[in-house]
Amino acid sequence: MARKTVLVCDNCGKEVDEGRGAVLRITFGDARRGAKAADLCDTCATQLPGQQVARRGRKPKSASA
Ligand SMILES: [Zn+2]
Repeated sequence: MARKTVLVCDNCGKEVDEGRGAVLRITFGDARRGAKAADLCDTCATQLPGQQVARRGRKPKSASA
């Protein structure tokens, strides 16, 4: 089991270095359709639509009440 797993981008097929890339998770509003996920390289992840989601747990400094 010395062979290391190589992660490949599901969009462009490029190898994703360890500690890089992203996982895209699609969750359908219709729960019966379930969910799907894709491994993406940094480039593809950046190009895909979507908004930056704030990290959980800590409030941003600017959001003072
Ligand atoms: Zn890619």
